[in-house]
This record gives sequence, C-alpha cells and structure tokens, in this order.
Amino acid sequence: MQYISTRGKAPGLTFEEATLAGLARDGGLYIPDTIPGMETAEIAALAGQSYEEVAFRVMRPFVGNGFTDDGFRGIVARAYSDFRHDARAPLTQIGPNHFLLELFHGPTLAFKDFAMRFIGQLFQAVLERRGERVTIVGATSGDTGSAAIDAFRGLAAADVFILFPHGRISEVQRRQITVHTERNVHALALHGDFDDCQARVKDMFNDFGFRDGVRLAAVNSINWGRILAQVVYYFTSAVALGAPHRAVDFTVPTGNFGDIFAGWIARRMGLPIGRLVIATNQNDILHRTLVNGNHARLEVRPSVSPSMDIQVSSNFERALYFAYGGNSSAVARDMEALTADGGFTVSQGALEALREMFSSGRADEAETVRTIAARYRATGEILCPHTAVGVKVAEECLGPNPMVTLATAHPAKFPDTVESAVGVRPALPPHMADLYSRPERVTDVPNDLGVVEELIRRRIAK
Ligand SMILES: *Cc1c(COP(=O)(O)O)cnc(C)c1O
Repeated sequence: MQYISTRGKAPGLTFEEATLAGLARDGGLYIPDTIPGMETAEIAALAGQSYEEVAFRVMRPFVGNGFTDDGFRGIVARAYSDFRHDARAPLTQIGPNHFLLELFHGPTLAFKDFAMRFIGQLFQAVLERRGERVTIVGATSGDTGSAAIDAFRGLAAADVFILFPHGRISEVQRRQITVHTERNVHALALHGDFDDCQARVKDMFNDFGFRDGVRLAAVNSINWGRILAQVVYYFTSAVALGAPHRAVDFTVPTGNFGDIFAGWIARRMGLPIGRLVIATNQNDILHRTLVNGNHARLEVRPSVSPSMDIQVSSNFERALYFAYGGNSSAVARDMEALTADGGFTVSQGALEALREMFSSGRADEAETVRTIAARYRATGEILCPHTAVGVKVAEECLGPNPMVTLATAHPAKFPDTVESAVGVRPALPPHMADLYSRPERVTDVPNDLGVVEELIRRRIAK
C-alpha cells in the first residue's frame, strides 16, 4: 500500500515514511491509495477480543511490510499498557439507546493518548532500527501537547517541542504540558490562538531548509498514524453493540476533524456505521459548511470546550479529497483559497457527497453548560465540556440505531467550567494529584516563525 498526498504533487510513500513525515511536501495530507476492507465474518470475529488484538487486526493491513507481526503486536501492547481501564475504551449507557465511549482512561486523560502512545512506540521502534533521531514539533489546542509529551518524554529517538496558545488553555492542560523535567521536552507558549500555533508548525514544514536541517517530524492530528490508531475504537464499540449484525451511529465532538475522519475510515473498511455526526461548539465552521457548502473561516471565539476552538480544521482536507472523488487539483485550489481568501465554496456534487458521509450539529456555550448540569442532575455523571457538546448534538440525532457519543476527555481537565455547571469540583485521579505543586518549565515565544525556528535550532544543538 502506498500513501499519496491529497494535493497530488508529492511522491507516494510507505506507511512508515508517511507517518514520520506528517505533512506532505506539497502541503497536502497523506491518505492510503486504497482502503482495505474487512469481511463481515472478520468483523464478527472481533467480538470478545482484547482491545490490543482488535487494534492489531484493524491496523495491520495499513502498515505494510516494515514490521513483522510480532514487532507490530509489541508496539500495540506497549502503547496501551499504561491505560487505567482493562477495556481501554469502555462503553457506558446514558439513555435508552445512547452510549458514551469513554476515551479518557489513558495517561493524560483525553482521547489523544490512544493515537499518541501508539505513535510514540512506533517512532521509537522505527528510529531505533534506522539509528536516527528526529525533532518533533506539534501545535496543541490543549490535549495533544500533553499526550505527545507523555508519549515521547525520555525516549532516545526524539526531541519534542509543543506550541500552545498562551492563556487559551485550561490550567490543568497547561500544567500537563509544562511540568516535565526530561531534557528532550520543550514547552513553548505562543502569543496567538491555536490556529496561529498550527500555522507556524505548517510553516516550519514548508521551510524545507529548516525541515531537513533539524529532521522535523510531526505528530499533529494530520499524522496518518494517529488517524489510524483512532479507527480502532469505532470497531471495538460498534462490535460490542451488535455490529456487524446491526448498524451503530456515532457522534463526535470535533475540532481538527481527526477523530471523526477515523470513523469514516472505519465505515469505508466495512463497519456498519449509520450516521456519523460532527458536533461543534460555537466555532462551527464544519457545521456551517455542511449546511450551506460555504467553508468560511471566522475569528476563533474562545469557549468552554477549548480543544475544539478551531476554524482551520486540518483533517477536513482528507474528507474533501474523497468528496471530490480523488480530484487533488480541486482540493489544492480550495486549500489555496482558504489561505488567500479565508474560505471557499464546496461544489454541489462534493457537498452532496459530504452530506452522505456526515451529519452535523452545534452546541453554544449555554447549551454546553446546561447539558453538563442536566446530566449531573439526572444520573450523577459529570461530563467534560467537549463531551457535553457531543451529548447535546447526539440527543438531537437519536434514531433507531444505538448512538455512541465519544467522551473525549476526563472532566477534571476542565474543573472551572464543570464546577460552574454542577457546583462540584471534579477531582484529578490519584496519579496526577501533585500536578499543582510541580514547578513549570515553559518558554514564551512571539507568533513569529523566525524566532521559533531559531530557538529550536539552538535547543537541539545542545
Ligand atoms: C482534540 C479534542 C477534540 C477534537 O478532536 P479532533 O480530532 O481535533 O476533531 C475534542 N475533544 C477533546 C477533549 C480533545 O482533546
């Protein structure tokens, strides 16, 4: 299997190369040139298997011959060994036909751990074999950064630099990024919003002199290996609810479109997913796009679900590629218009294709807080604000199929919002109890490419 760019002007790569590279050299994102299918019987046979076994069977066809079966099993086993729930991604029931998929039992309490722990072990195995070292640069709207740091801290094969928007993430999120003492970990507070952080990371990848000089690798949500790891829990949860013998719907709190795109891949592989619902907060560019075909970028408005405060939703480019039937020039044209003019209009045919692929809804600030409060009153369960956005939208989309809403983070990551909604401060799990007493190590940086590149060069030269 080859990985090709959504913009059609970069060479095809193997899985290993595409995962190490992150962004393609033509600015596009890597996608597999064919999506392997799973037979109904193969899906049925996943029932009762461990999370790791399902992960092995679902991901194996995508990763090629660079790994032996045993080698790949080892990567998967190490990736999930630190999770605090045996099921890794357990389901709980919150309504007659509505379930939560709890994705917050990993080391940093958000679903990002599923992908990042996998990538960390994958990079370590590949780079060790090649005798190489890389510089990882990532932008985070809150949860990716801590997951990346946890996955890579202390690994010999990489330095990891994380850019986060100064003052725009919760204190718990910030501390999870800044309290580390390992010398290969570097936290950078950028004066700007998340889209600025993400844009500077993209700029570094498009600066080939810098990119090759420091051997840049990306672990952002554009990384194909991350999308692939997220495909797995669609299978485990749907099979637990009766797939492949019945269809299951999913609602996904969405920002950068990585998690929900993984759901679409699962469906393309043959998993019977009915509706795949995009749930956005007040930063609702994706919802607006599906309503009127107009992908128009507005200012980011900070919300109580900060990990979804995004207007440039990177992985949407992958969906667009398939909606355009693989027409990479159409994708490149739209992406150029997004940069130059702040938006584009999807063609009528592509819009119809997108509406076949996804449904959508939004929750504003008041609705999000109200949903947390209502759930707590009804069941005593405390939702994180991102999950609450999903639950609110899912409730509007309930139909005959079981509905699974992805619970993307633990409520203790967002204590202020949760406390204002329910009057109770959610406690951090015991392994993180000392978070507030540990010293922070962070460097403030301006929203300036040259300054950030120079700092990275200096740090890795040490
Ligand atoms: C990253 C994140 C999201 C958004 O996921 P995408 O893959 O970027 O769409 C939602 N909720 C939480 C808690 C997150 O950390």
